[in-house]
Amino acid sequence: MMQAETRTCRSCTRPFTIDPDDFAFYEKVNVPAPTWCPPCRAKRRAAFRNERSFYSRTCDLCKKQIIAIYPADAPFPVYCNECWYSDGWDPFAFGVAYDPSRPFFEQNKELRLLVPRAATIGRNNVDSTFVNIGAENKRGYYLVESSTSEDSAYCYWVEDHCKECLDSAFLKKTEVAYETQEARESFRVFFSNDVSQCHDSWFLKNCTNAADCFGCVNERNAKYHIFNTPYPKVEYVRERGVFDTGSYRVIEELKERFQKFVLTFPHKFADIDRSENCSGNYIANSRNCHDSYFVEDGENVRYCVRVMYHVRDIMDCDTVGFPGERCYESINTALGVVRMKFCVRCWTGTNSEYCDNCDTINDCFGCIGLRDAQYCVLNKRYTKEEYEALVPRIMSDMSTTPYVDSKKRAYGYGEFFPAELSPFAYNETIAAEYFPLSEHEALQDGYSWRVGERKKHVATLPGEQLPDHIRDVTDSITQEIISCTHNGKCAHSCSGAFRIVPQEFQFYRKIGLPLPRLCPNCRHYERQAERNPMKLWHRTCQCAGEGSSNGVYTNTATHQHGAGKCQNEFETSYSPERKEIIYCESCYNSEVV
Ligand SMILES: [Zn+2]
Ligand SMILES: [Zn+2]
Ligand SMILES: [Zn+2]
Ligand SMILES: [Zn+2]
Ligand SMILES: [Zn+2]
Repeated sequence: MMQAETRTCRSCTRPFTIDPDDFAFYEKVNVPAPTWCPPCRAKRRAAFRNERSFYSRTCDLCKKQIIAIYPADAPFPVYCNECWYSDGWDPFAFGVAYDPSRPFFEQNKELRLLVPRAATIGRNNVDSTFVNIGAENKRGYYLVESSTSEDSAYCYWVEDHCKECLDSAFLKKTEVAYETQEARESFRVFFSNDVSQCHDSWFLKNCTNAADCFGCVNERNAKYHIFNTPYPKVEYVRERGVFDTGSYRVIEELKERFQKFVLTFPHKFADIDRSENCSGNYIANSRNCHDSYFVEDGENVRYCVRVMYHVRDIMDCDTVGFPGERCYESINTALGVVRMKFCVRCWTGTNSEYCDNCDTINDCFGCIGLRDAQYCVLNKRYTKEEYEALVPRIMSDMSTTPYVDSKKRAYGYGEFFPAELSPFAYNETIAAEYFPLSEHEALQDGYSWRVGERKKHVATLPGEQLPDHIRDVTDSITQEIISCTHNGKCAHSCSGAFRIVPQEFQFYRKIGLPLPRLCPNCRHYERQAERNPMKLWHRTCQCAGEGSSNGVYTNTATHQHGAGKCQNEFETSYSPERKEIIYCESCYNSEVV
């Protein structure tokens, strides 16, 4: 049994611990122990994922005008998705023989500048614009990491046949949702968070099977409740009618009132369901998953974000699985992946390392843009025997002749791609969301930075001057360029101005919702800011005991620990400074479920 070891991160120089279980995993997947700490590794990977920086440019093959996640001045060719997936070009034509006298990453870097990339990640999106990391969407507009949706816009992570969802995130099987997050099997839900099988409801937080509810928290099977008070149907309709939800001012007041109301209820320390020995958040049906977020049906997972649908023995992965096994240090690598290491955007594959933008690959090393390939190194085909002799040699050369980046950090075998090989600038990627850095800090850290050619939108209508009530908005609104009321005052990338597209306007009218005052980017980041960080704190349950109050909430049920204070401890993404009341699972279930 190996001992836990504390090492110094070669990137940030802070100490980090490698546990015996971690060593066992590295042995299982045949990699040396990491030299960077977990957050530095996560940041390096995240800098290879651009979700929502879109550019207008031409396809370098058919010359059509397209929307791409790479700007017009990208140093490599970019093809529209039709061209990229066509037989109009041959990725093997770029194959080069490995040169043992030069670092592997240097050769891989050169290849990365030659091989064309697809404009966006995704396929089979019909009548859709601005869709990245998504497939099978119909009439979608500005969708990221979303699939099989219909008539939806400005959404993030909506899957499983969602329809008519707007400005929402993390939805499954949900129809007609607005400003809602974490909803499943719900219908007509607005300004809600963490809801399941709810319908015709506004301002819900953590409710299951609620119908015709308004401003409710922790409700199960409730009907006609307003701020957790039950009403007879007739009175509900009358009382609900008092809230004029077509008014922007009223909605803003309700948001504030609801936020305060939410703080008077206990919250479960983490969203972990039907799982054993797990730490992190949003984990379901899993065992032995730690320091991970968004895990479904996982086993032996650590330092992962969004690994799901049957994943076993996965470490340091972001958006990997569906299903996956024995994968390490990879991002966007899914749809049946086994023993994939150090890969970026590879769909379906086995036994491949340091590959990027490949589909259906087996036994490939350092390749880019390949489809249906086996025994390839740097896009050059080999026989099985040649491949099996060459790859171990490269791996050993990588350690003896490592690539040294501009920050004098050495990259041998076992390191993810060096930051400077990313096709994106730091501020175009989700790294900037999870680990915000200034331009100076990003450059210091070896990442690149893109200074946006600030589009010269001439706003025709200041956001502040939009009519308060939706009934006072006329059809001409879709002709206006509205200035975002944040107007660049926030830390992230504000688009400055925005339009209300006709599809969106119809939705606001149909539901009776006021127009937004922020641009789609600011709306997205505001929703993200409402979420807990992907970080854990060790805390103790705040339950004061049966019949007791912690000053804000008074228990009403029987608790396992009786009248005394609960002593249970846990890892939670609620930092100690936060105002929410945090309960352990047992206390939470006593009061709520
Ligand atoms: Zn570090
Ligand atoms: Zn094209
Ligand atoms: Zn904005
Ligand atoms: Zn407790
Ligand atoms: Zn308790």
